[in-house]
Amino acid sequence: MNLTQEPTKYSAIAIFMDGRKEANRLHQLGEADKAGTLRAGSSGALVNQHVIGKCHRLSLARYLGLQESHEDHTNTIFESGYANEEVWMSKLALGWHGELTGDSKYPIKWEIDGVTVSGRPDIVLLDDDKKPVFGIELKVVESYKSASSLWYERKPKTDNLIQAAHYSLKFGIPWILVYTFSGIVAPPYWAVRKYSLPKGAEVRPFKMEFPLFWQDGVLGYLYNGDRIMTEITAQSIDDYYQLVVDMSREKDLYLRHSSLDVHGQSQGWNACDYCSAKDACDSYEQHGDYQQWQDELARDWSK
Ligand code: SF4
Repeated sequence: MNLTQEPTKYSAIAIFMDGRKEANRLHQLGEADKAGTLRAGSSGALVNQHVIGKCHRLSLARYLGLQESHEDHTNTIFESGYANEEVWMSKLALGWHGELTGDSKYPIKWEIDGVTVSGRPDIVLLDDDKKPVFGIELKVVESYKSASSLWYERKPKTDNLIQAAHYSLKFGIPWILVYTFSGIVAPPYWAVRKYSLPKGAEVRPFKMEFPLFWQDGVLGYLYNGDRIMTEITAQSIDDYYQLVVDMSREKDLYLRHSSLDVHGQSQGWNACDYCSAKDACDSYEQHGDYQQWQDELARDWSK
């Protein structure tokens, strides 16, 4: 066959990017409508005066309607999360006897001191009588550091665990936090040294789940049958949201985010060092002006 054919004049990526731009525009409109509500997707806990999980200042910023313009790579990470949800939904639909509800069909809404807290869990599984049985919080593992840390340390990430705990608490049903990693990476040096890994060791694709439970109001999770208790209580999650409400009313940003994990131990890194609000928060330490913090954040996030 003497087929002759020119390449298409179109660019798949250019069309994709136009679509993404429009999706981002629609998303931002939706976010603007949500100003004045608090989000379950930004969950934290206030434990012994330390904020654990999502930074309370970032939750406040969302509450105030401040939005960060995302870079391409951040968009790509979000999109892989959506893709992961679709894969999970399609497989669970075949494996589960009852109904499933995905994003948005089973929202939660509750109030703290007159302010609404809302959220949309990833997946809720219903029984044959359409009664919710348990929920799933899905996370995609993106970096080789996170993959190695999960694979070798077997500990869920603080923010993720508190978010799943929040849903479990407000729905009143058990929750499972699930990680999916689909790459093949070499472990970092700390893991090689700590676990005496052989040359050529690899972290390969995995799924890892942490079922959550509550014991007398204290959060725990299972890993390989071990019951691991945390310092997170049901009250500490409510206290976190109350703190954000108080910050907005008192126009005071409270302390900075702590670097503690759900066991009250140092995570070994400081979230502020990786945060896009760092300059505004550093500057706030000097001037202490709530409005100036917002203005600087809005400026930095629009870049
Ligand atoms: S810089 Fe630190 S305190 Fe400020 S918003 Fe980010 S994590 Fe929170």
